[in-house]
Amino acid sequence: MASSNAAAAQVTKQTFPGVKHGEQPGLEDVAGLIKAGQAKRVIVMAGAGISTSAGIPDFRSPETGLYANLEKYSLPFPEAIFDIDYFVEQPEAFYALAKELYPGNFKPTPTHYFFRLLHEKKVLKSVFTQNIDTLERIAGLDEELIIEAHGSFAEAECLECKKVYTKESIKPQIERGEVVYCTEPYCQGNDGALVKPKIVFFGEGLPKQFFDRISDFSTCDLLIVLGTSLSVQPFASLVHRVPSTCPRLLLNLESVGEVETARTRFFSSASEAEGFDFDGVTKRKEGIRDVRFLGSTDEGVRKLCRELGWEEELDELMERQNKLLDEERRKEKEIKAEKGDEASSAKVEKVEEEVKPEEKQQEVIKAVVDKVEEDKSVDKSVDKLAEGVDRVKLDGAEGEAEAAPSSPPKATL
Ligand SMILES: [Zn+2]
Repeated sequence: MASSNAAAAQVTKQTFPGVKHGEQPGLEDVAGLIKAGQAKRVIVMAGAGISTSAGIPDFRSPETGLYANLEKYSLPFPEAIFDIDYFVEQPEAFYALAKELYPGNFKPTPTHYFFRLLHEKKVLKSVFTQNIDTLERIAGLDEELIIEAHGSFAEAECLECKKVYTKESIKPQIERGEVVYCTEPYCQGNDGALVKPKIVFFGEGLPKQFFDRISDFSTCDLLIVLGTSLSVQPFASLVHRVPSTCPRLLLNLESVGEVETARTRFFSSASEAEGFDFDGVTKRKEGIRDVRFLGSTDEGVRKLCRELGWEEELDELMERQNKLLDEERRKEKEIKAEKGDEASSAKVEKVEEEVKPEEKQQEVIKAVVDKVEEDKSVDKSVDKLAEGVDRVKLDGAEGEAEAAPSSPPKATL
């Protein structure tokens, strides 16, 4: 008995049991793990790519992104829109963006609904998202399961007295495109008492919840990374936090975060050497554990759901929740119409029309750029902010995995 047990222990357990050693596993093999009950603590890591089909612009896209567009115009530097010093000086640009991106203007994508489906199938541990659009919440996913690494619009806070405001309480002002000031008696008349949505700006620390929940990764048994260039730290480094036995799936337009070569392994830390290895270059004895699907995240998710036999459920879930959202928005519109808030009801009307995601993205960018231009013409004082500001690397969208901050983790939206 003892000897046969010992012999069994020597046989290395393949990460994907059905895949021959050295062969590349595919989406069907990932689905196989979930179906066999071998992936019950799935962690999702999501970036801007999952929300573009909802009409939200990817800030970092080289041509069409928000930063690239702002660079052509007059912000002291494109990321100034998320710079706390610039915000205090010229809050209008950020509120223009907030108005466009405020929760309620967009619907979740199939990818967001897939996260909820994972939860309903009782296999989801957590969703770490870089996105500030709250579409995971809007898809009806439990808040407990969502870690918004760069904060979100869900709450806002007075910069002076730290009073917390709900997103609903400041929504009317945001929708009118106004700068939101604190209403506490202590803050009355103070121009610095701005109410800022709890989005992590450059130079600000990440939310406590992010660090509290990093431990989730130690028991992860399937990591799914979607729609991110993995260029922003410390978020990108999370892929190395899973156990070395954990399979990892990348659904993205391009391949990112790959392990380089022996040279990288020699010069970098052990964790950096553990990039994705889709091709088996590291000759892992348990076989290849990293799977890649190149395409939109919605496509990848749909294909995975098909392999899982979940496609119909995904469609039903989307239909059900979208109906609820439509109903909520219709009611909201009625209330506004009663109050005679023309501007806001017009906005809701516009949302209900079916607009192509690309058009919607460009609308968002144009609205922000117009506002920036308008403000610029009345106040030139912001130019000085361009000097001496710790510029954050912008070209990370090309898939470089080494934009590591030198000091404590900084937010880099
Ligand atoms: Zn205050």
